[in-house]
Amino acid sequence: MNRGIDQAESTNHADPTATTRKPLSLPEVSRGMLPVILWPAISLLLATLLWVTTAITLTDERREAEISALAEAKALSQTYSEYIARAVEQIDQLTLLIRYQWERSRQSLRLEDLSSQGAFPMAHYALTTVINAEGRPVTANRPMGSVLMQFNDRDYFVYHRDNPSRALRIGTPIVGRVSQVPVIQFTRRLEREDGSFDGVVLVSVTPGYLTGFFDGSRLGRLGMLAVVDADSIMLAYKIGTSISEDESYASSNALRGIPPFSASQQNGSLIGPEWFPDKRPRYAAMIPVAGYPLIGVAGIAQEEYLLSYAQTRRNILQAAIVASVILLLFSALGSAWSFRRVRHKQQQLEVQETYRLATEGGNEGFYMLRAIRDRAGNVVDFEVVDCNERGAWFYGSCREQFVGARLSQLNGPAYFPVVMELYRSALQSGFYEDEAKIPPGSPIVVEWVHRRLVRSGAGLAITFRDISHIKAHERELSRMANEDALTFLPNRNWLKHHLPGMLDVARQSGSALALMFVDLDNFKNVNDSHGHSAGDELLRSAAERLKSLVRPGDHVVRLGGDEFTVILHPVEHQDEIAIAATRISQAFHHPFDLVHGKHAIGASIGISIFPRDGYDAEALLKNADIAMYQAKSDGKGHFRYYEQSLAERLKARLDMERSLQLALSQNQFVLHYQPRVDTLTGELRSLEALVRWKHPDLGLVPPLEFIPLAEETGMILRLGELVLEEACAQISRWKAMSLKLVPVSINVSPYQFNHGDIHHTVTACLQRHRVEPGLVEIEITESSMMGEHAEVSAEMTALRAMGVKLLVDDFGTGFSSLSQLQRLEMDGLKVDRAFTSELVKKPEGEVFFRAIMSMAHALGMSVVAEGVETEEQLQALRAMACDEVQGYFISHPVPAADAQALLQRRFLLSSHDEAALTAT
Ligand code: C2E
Ligand code: CA
Ligand code: CA
Repeated sequence: MNRGIDQAESTNHADPTATTRKPLSLPEVSRGMLPVILWPAISLLLATLLWVTTAITLTDERREAEISALAEAKALSQTYSEYIARAVEQIDQLTLLIRYQWERSRQSLRLEDLSSQGAFPMAHYALTTVINAEGRPVTANRPMGSVLMQFNDRDYFVYHRDNPSRALRIGTPIVGRVSQVPVIQFTRRLEREDGSFDGVVLVSVTPGYLTGFFDGSRLGRLGMLAVVDADSIMLAYKIGTSISEDESYASSNALRGIPPFSASQQNGSLIGPEWFPDKRPRYAAMIPVAGYPLIGVAGIAQEEYLLSYAQTRRNILQAAIVASVILLLFSALGSAWSFRRVRHKQQQLEVQETYRLATEGGNEGFYMLRAIRDRAGNVVDFEVVDCNERGAWFYGSCREQFVGARLSQLNGPAYFPVVMELYRSALQSGFYEDEAKIPPGSPIVVEWVHRRLVRSGAGLAITFRDISHIKAHERELSRMANEDALTFLPNRNWLKHHLPGMLDVARQSGSALALMFVDLDNFKNVNDSHGHSAGDELLRSAAERLKSLVRPGDHVVRLGGDEFTVILHPVEHQDEIAIAATRISQAFHHPFDLVHGKHAIGASIGISIFPRDGYDAEALLKNADIAMYQAKSDGKGHFRYYEQSLAERLKARLDMERSLQLALSQNQFVLHYQPRVDTLTGELRSLEALVRWKHPDLGLVPPLEFIPLAEETGMILRLGELVLEEACAQISRWKAMSLKLVPVSINVSPYQFNHGDIHHTVTACLQRHRVEPGLVEIEITESSMMGEHAEVSAEMTALRAMGVKLLVDDFGTGFSSLSQLQRLEMDGLKVDRAFTSELVKKPEGEVFFRAIMSMAHALGMSVVAEGVETEEQLQALRAMACDEVQGYFISHPVPAADAQALLQRRFLLSSHDEAALTAT
């Protein structure tokens, strides 16, 4: 399977860029930019609309203003024309009146009198006079001076003289000869009764007469008035309030000629600026004056009349500009906003693309999923929007095919709802991460994936990582953590994690569970005597044997060292436990086939039962251990059930341990001494130091009650030091008393040999007390010599080299062979008292003794018989020529003070013995 993955990987990853590195295409970008362009486009359109509307509105406004201006000009002209008609008619009437008066009164008419009577009140009447046929003024409304006036050269005079018309003649402006100001002359022909020319009536008025009384408010400040005759000659003219009566009146400055009015222009028209000295265009109309060959012209300044229009125009333009600016602003903002959106989207795409490309080479599968919703808005499916090649590979596909696929298509109908539920909740919560074991129905091609789901917009961004190999590694690690490397059995760690679960099951099902604590007996000896590799081999074989003895569902665990646990579950009946325990302990009676030969090793078993002996793993293990410990104390090789009393015993032991510790620190120990004597003469040869505990409550405690505990706990080291110290001290005290000394024999436990530096301790002690090495003997049990450890034998050799004698204690109880003893070069053998007691009972007893003695003597060792309690035993030993004896028959162990007496007595056998001796 793994190879399959690698292959798929390599083919998929050969050229991921070739198919996937596709930059965003142009249409894509421009489609994205559309909203950005749309904003200014719409704004431009709106602005155009605004301005067109504005222009139309302004044009309309202006046209209306113009129409009303022209109407006003026309109305004004009309009024003005009527005014002129009245003004001229007044003069007409005046000339008619004067003619009438003149023709009636003949030469007697005096205008001076008329004037003084107020007949010519108007300021504009420059001159009113009657001129006779010779051209001389006859009478006038004002004094003419002394100068003799002659008017026969004037146009009007010539006209009236030669023309019989009696109608009023209106002259063109001219500087009056009398008034010396520009005037307009109105004249009428005078006739005699025969109709012949008799003179002229002249009324001269200043031009202001025709313009003066007009209502200026309608004209405005810049309004214009003009009177023009039939020959288009301007008679009077006024702009605003300035009536053109000054010198410049006639000059071209006043008015640039007569604008090209025509009769059709009674409705008025706009007159260009070139016609006016102030260069201001005006709306003007011309209306003929009724009854006279005159035309009244009135004009209003465009500037003045369109003032309100200009204001309106200004306002409209202002509003349009403000609107344009706002539009521009909106467009800019909208554009910027759109641009940012587009950029953002583009960046998102780029990031997605980059991420996909970046992950392309790696181990992570990457997917972008879009949620598909139904009408109600519920997410019903997901569609793959994008992924990398690796992502498609997870589904056994390639990217090209995978993009666009739906979850419902990818997953089978059984697995789809599971996936959907997960993805849906990830979409809701925004984040989900786990390590998932891929179930059989899934299309995913790996065993384990690390999944990471992150909500991204309306979909999910998902990464997958293949963690199959990590999981395999984890499994391997956990296997290693839970497995004993030597025996391949589950280990203590496994038990710690699995026993509670098994107890739960037992609790729920109401069944019982048995826990066996199996401990190999004296396993340490195997290690010590045959080396660790032999120990390992034995443990492996023991594990195999145990495994073969239990039911397939039961468990064998190695707790460590030579300790095993067997779990039996379920247990229907207690008999099953007994059967299993018996089977195991019996099986261990058969020796194991090891490389170096057969090896027998027993097993002690302690059993605790759930729920009887405990509810939790800890209690059950502890109690099985207690039971096992008891099985050991009972003599090993058996099994024991846990009982409450065992725990109590254990407690007693612990108490003992504590008080022994205290005893060591306070040195509550004394030495008693038991003599060893020559078999024949009874002469004292040695004193064996035997330790006693002077317990504050219990009195003297014999060593067998505390030495084993001291050995198990290692306290024997300290105790051995105390004994050695006291023995040496005692020797030097006796020495000081000048007694004839014998060696003191000191018991050293095998533990001390294996764990302490005996040679060094002894040497230091001897030196401290100035005791010669020859005054000390050391007794070692067989078991401490069994090890082939170089250190032990080296220690012994060193001690012996110093002159310390070495004795084998309790000989016959162990497995030591004489050849071993030979190699270690011991000085003597102390035959265990078990053999001494057999001596006179059975003939075999003697045979054994003789055999030992002959071999020991051959090896140069002396033989000591221990436990000599009777006369017969002594006699038998004497007969066999045993070297030395020790026992209650000679002396019990005695306190130091009594030992002193023994030293002084020297020969310890009774006198009759001595007598018997001398007899032989
Ligand atoms: P062991 O080394 O074999 O010492 C001889 C034991 O036999 C002594 O017991 C002694 O009182 C007893 N015994 C002597 N003669 C007779 C006899 O005729 N009949 C009988 N039934 N017993 C006799 P004890 O003093 O109780 O010592 C017991 C054991 O304790 C010793 O056996 C020795 O192994 C150990 N032990 C005593 N003192 C020390 C010590 O200082 N260090 C070490 N390591 N072990 C010691
Ligand atoms: Ca001894
Ligand atoms: Ca002994």
